[in-house]
Amino acid sequence: MKRRKFLKNSGLSGLALGLPAFPLWAAQREFTVEELTGKADLDLYGEGINLRKEAHDAFLEMKKAAYQDGISLKVVSSYRSYDRQRTIFEQKYLAYTEEGMEPLEAIDKIVEYSTIPGTSRHHWGTDADLIDDSKPASGDVLDPEKFEDGGPFEDFRKWMEEHANTYGFYLVYTNNPRRRGFRYEPWHYSYAPLSVPMLSDFRKMNILRILEGDDFLGSEYLTTGFIRSYITDNILDINPELL
Ligand SMILES: [Zn+2]
Repeated sequence: MKRRKFLKNSGLSGLALGLPAFPLWAAQREFTVEELTGKADLDLYGEGINLRKEAHDAFLEMKKAAYQDGISLKVVSSYRSYDRQRTIFEQKYLAYTEEGMEPLEAIDKIVEYSTIPGTSRHHWGTDADLIDDSKPASGDVLDPEKFEDGGPFEDFRKWMEEHANTYGFYLVYTNNPRRRGFRYEPWHYSYAPLSVPMLSDFRKMNILRILEGDDFLGSEYLTTGFIRSYITDNILDINPELL
């Protein structure tokens, strides 16, 4: 007993000195690989909202406030499973390669706006593509032009730029011209109190190994070099507030 007590105490003093007995990440991981890659059954809340509880509650608060200023927030897309993301990726891959693009060229084109299955922030239940439901808009509503001055979602963009952070929501793919990876997406917001720790756990996974084990149309062309730069540019070159 004495020895055990001594070990315990010395462990504690080690921690007090900032010398943990095991890597900190081993203790701090909160989210599973399945949750982070869209392969888990998540509890999602709100009809037509489909976010984790905390994000859902914050969204409703934000929606209420926006409504008072004449903006009707609508979720166009929020949670997406791995299988759904794979379908999106494969449909685009088929369309581009049938147009005559080389496989890698097609994948480069896909990742301007869409993710490789398993790496979408939409897998997390914290992120949503939003528009203003009260403004008439035809065709593809997630078109950057519609959010510009004079477009139907100009008021939405300005309101969100000013108020979204108050509710914990942050734009992910900003308009910073020096940012690489996904193009500017004025519609894609992320609930930071959950998604910041999720991204942190995502970075601790062996993304390379997980992707290499996946099998979908075009996956054989995802080289190690491609995946590395995809992680640096598309996953990590985002709004610094979300890192
Ligand atoms: Zn999105």
